[in-house]
Amino acid sequence: MTLAALGWNETWKDKFGRLKLEAPETKGLVPGRVVGEHRTHYQVAIDDAEVSAELTGRMRNAAGQRSDLPGVGDYVALRLSIGDGPASIEAVLPRATELIRKAAGETRPQLIAANVDTIFIVTGLDGDFNIQRIQRYVALVRSGRSEPVIVVNKVDLSKDVAGAIAQIEAVEPGITIHAISARDKASAAVLEAYFDGGKTIALIGSSGVGKSTLTNALLGRDAQATQEVRSYDSRGRHTTTHRQLFMRAQGGTLIDTPGMRGLELWTETAVEQPNFEDIEALALECKFRNCAHQTEPGCAVLAAIALGDMEAGHLAAYAKAGGGRH
Ligand code: GDP
Ligand code: ZN
Repeated sequence: MTLAALGWNETWKDKFGRLKLEAPETKGLVPGRVVGEHRTHYQVAIDDAEVSAELTGRMRNAAGQRSDLPGVGDYVALRLSIGDGPASIEAVLPRATELIRKAAGETRPQLIAANVDTIFIVTGLDGDFNIQRIQRYVALVRSGRSEPVIVVNKVDLSKDVAGAIAQIEAVEPGITIHAISARDKASAAVLEAYFDGGKTIALIGSSGVGKSTLTNALLGRDAQATQEVRSYDSRGRHTTTHRQLFMRAQGGTLIDTPGMRGLELWTETAVEQPNFEDIEALALECKFRNCAHQTEPGCAVLAAIALGDMEAGHLAAYAKAGGGRH
């Protein structure tokens, strides 16, 4: 498998060429992409091969925080080993995008995946549907510069698909939404275009929404079962590991890291709630102190919406969140 098949292109070549490492160190470096991250080592794809790699001490020391260290999806500069030992990662190329978990009050942001072009935010129509959770995921994806796309799954289990889509559109105007059934490959096929041009995709969403089913549909095989790789740990022992960046036979790659699956627990609790300070501030100007901002005369919030200064969906989300009554 060539590195180009994993997404390596002119832009990355450029970034690689601009790496400024100290004199003798730039010599003999080769580019690679991290396809697996393990406790003791990384699995890195280079042109037509895959190698185990470790961080240099210099890289480890230079990293200001954990998210500066390489993660799955990163492009790196590698020095290959002469003998049987692991290669060393000498530098991480500046990321195009990063999915980072930065819990409130936590000082160590954690990189979940790097250089993911589009992130499918998967939600199920079987009781999982939660508009605020979707909004939190969208904010998270955008903060890392990836493109969020909403995948409404399990349409076969719902009588009101249009209603669910309308709810999402109300709070995330203009966002791309696909309603599918991951169990039906033909229906999931609409998502294949996102891989065009060797792009990288990831899926996030609560457990049970259908991410594994969809991953298998998109990869066209049982990814986790068939993509075991042989690798070496830090002592040169053979180990069997699971890769976390999957290549599609039809082109493009898909990233599925353990951190991606842990993300749901964290978004449920630690992500900032959507901010309604603007509504609370306006409410001080409502005619009635106990204004519910629905039909009341002299309501400053409704006035702002009528003037186009605020999205109606924002007020709807506020009301759904318990709007000032807590
Ligand atoms: P994950 O936890 O997000 O990876 O979810 P899974 O892919 O394991 O799916 C959870 C359950 O939902 C499984 O029993 C799937 O077969 C089922 N499922 C996934 N997609 C669909 C769908 O489109 N329709 C229906 N009815 N069930 C689905
Ligand atoms: Zn009001």
